[in-house]
Amino acid sequence: MTEPLSARPSATPIRPSACPGLLRIVPALDGGICRIKLPGGVLSAEQAMVVASAAEGFASGVIEATNRGNLQIRGIGADHDGLIASLLDAGLGPSNPASDDVRNLMLSPTAGIDPQQLLDVRPLAGQILHSLEHHPRFHELSPKFALSLDGGEGLAMLEHPHDLWLSPLQVDGQTLLGFGFAGCPATDSPVAAVAPDAAHALVVAVLETFLNLARPEHARMRDLLKEVPVARFIEHVAARSPQRLVIDHKVTDWRRAPTRSFAHIGTYAQATAGIMAVGAGVPLGRLRPSMLREAARLAIAFGDGQLCMTPWQSLMLRNVPAGHSVTVMEGLSQAGLLVDAAQSLSKIVACTGSAACAKGLADTKADALHLAALLQENAISRAVHLSGCARSCAAAHVMPVTLLAASPGRYDLYFRHAEMSGFGDLHARDLTIEAVGALLTADSRSNTDD
Ligand code: SF4
Repeated sequence: MTEPLSARPSATPIRPSACPGLLRIVPALDGGICRIKLPGGVLSAEQAMVVASAAEGFASGVIEATNRGNLQIRGIGADHDGLIASLLDAGLGPSNPASDDVRNLMLSPTAGIDPQQLLDVRPLAGQILHSLEHHPRFHELSPKFALSLDGGEGLAMLEHPHDLWLSPLQVDGQTLLGFGFAGCPATDSPVAAVAPDAAHALVVAVLETFLNLARPEHARMRDLLKEVPVARFIEHVAARSPQRLVIDHKVTDWRRAPTRSFAHIGTYAQATAGIMAVGAGVPLGRLRPSMLREAARLAIAFGDGQLCMTPWQSLMLRNVPAGHSVTVMEGLSQAGLLVDAAQSLSKIVACTGSAACAKGLADTKADALHLAALLQENAISRAVHLSGCARSCAAAHVMPVTLLAASPGRYDLYFRHAEMSGFGDLHARDLTIEAVGALLTADSRSNTDD
């Protein structure tokens, strides 16, 4: 049943945001944008069909895969209520309308089925999401406030900064969940750890402590920690929560092992022998309704009837018998998805750009397609991010190569540098896409780093 639209939150939020939500359609140059937050990135094949139909029926047919494992419908026309009702009817809304914005918990797409995992984090994720939805105090969090929960999977996005991140480690034969603030397990060590069965209470204590100490202008944990030292924040958390925090050098010196790059594209062996996950990149993060429908059809025919959207702006079909994985890959490829990480386009991301964003200085999507074609001619595959302005909406972390728009068709080129902030080392200014293609081709032939 459709939840009454009058149930939409109406009170002025303490930390307002211009971000789209399912119940808050925000305008852009190409029409409205609606963001559909998916628990763990998962939606059923039937829900995917509804999203495809809603994008055609109420909007221009553009569906976006976000870098938090969610979906967006763009180009929405005047009938906002019709679109929202169709999505709510499909069960794609929050169970509590006031909580739509704060359901920001990122998981691995192979959580619970990964051969390398130390923990199946799905039950804990369910507890955390339930608290985010039903603890009224948590609705004061900014829509940008986000958590990540890593189970030690071999396929995990470790580089996206989160306000609170949790990652498992083993100490003296015991598995603990380390956690940190305003960072990520790829580059930071935990500040402390707890036993897994105490992790839900820990998360609640951290969020309550944040809300108690933060002023309305503190939207993110990093804002608060500029004024409150981490050690003092931890003291407040410890005082609120019954669980024992382990603060020991075995925890605070630990660092998460990296995962294999681009393992989200192609086949990925699950923990159960003979069962695969099959991943495919969404070209420049945009799905046509036909692509989503075909992926859904394949999930019903060969998988578990679900799709999982990933933080790499890709999708994954899970629980596919190995004997069917080639058929699924072929089907996804024929639908226009990217199943080969060596394809140049599969490593390129681009923001909305000037075609649909007023802040954009260049048509990043069109330029990205042009660049991908130039690199493909030379069999070069580089991880490149094209950004229409310095806000960097398309990439939550700094990518090896960033092209920052300077004017239509022209970009400043940066190479990531571990000791430099921002996009890294400014290598050249005001390049055409042809010049970028030539430079990256020459650079790739003299340098195998990526
Ligand atoms: S990075 Fe800038 S141009 Fe690109 S979508 Fe974001 S605000 Fe718009």
